[in-house]
Amino acid sequence: MADGSATGTSIRFRCGHGASLDTARITLQRPCPLCMLLVETKRDRRQLLAKVAPAERAALAQETRIGAEFEWICVRGHSRFTASVREVLTGVGCPKCFKNAQAPAARFEGGVPFMKPALRLGTSQTEQRLRVLLGERIRLPHRVNAIKISRTFFGKPEVWPDIIIPGLMVAIEYDDPGRDGLSHRGLKEASDREKDAALNEVGWEVIRVRAGGLDELGPYSIVCPALSVGVVDRILEVLVQIRGVEAVDRLRVSPDAS
Ligand SMILES: [Zn+2]
Ligand SMILES: [Zn+2]
Repeated sequence: MADGSATGTSIRFRCGHGASLDTARITLQRPCPLCMLLVETKRDRRQLLAKVAPAERAALAQETRIGAEFEWICVRGHSRFTASVREVLTGVGCPKCFKNAQAPAARFEGGVPFMKPALRLGTSQTEQRLRVLLGERIRLPHRVNAIKISRTFFGKPEVWPDIIIPGLMVAIEYDDPGRDGLSHRGLKEASDREKDAALNEVGWEVIRVRAGGLDELGPYSIVCPALSVGVVDRILEVLVQIRGVEAVDRLRVSPDAS
């Protein structure tokens, strides 16, 4: 009913909303707040009416207040939700859509570690040794070997770091020049950088152990002649630097535990 009762006043606006002509005591020479917000947000009332629950359509058609609450239908099929006109026009409105928008990584499952069966059969002995040495200091999961990313890397929506620490969202890579002295140089270095960028995008940091004469690569490089216990000490230090001492302590293996 277009009687303007929703406003609780007898004000009529230039847009025609508010009190009806015969009950209006004041007519303001400007659009109602709701029409002004529609202009501001480049929407029109028809678009808004298409989103509201059918039973409330008539009331919304005449509404002037941006704080007025209605029941809305989510365009993505989530359950109906109650929100003000302001929230619907200036925000996401639907709480579930809002949650998804808050975590863009989750939308693509980017950043989620998972187990890819039969992957990385060619793990080097040094990588295995690094895993053993690090596993003596902090708890490492055995059930993950890949991380979903929000782009593709070598055609796959995932990367496969040497070591994954989900509790800290840190990946560790062991790089050395290999037998031919060419691994991790040139094109490999470019792809290593791309891999790090893909991980950074989904909230992960990468520590690179750079052995055998390789230079630093990325902000968390540990340059060393070869893998040693000292290198593992430095990894722990860098983990603390990245995520803080409390987060790292939570994963520490107590010396008398095993
Ligand atoms: Zn209006
Ligand atoms: Zn929704």
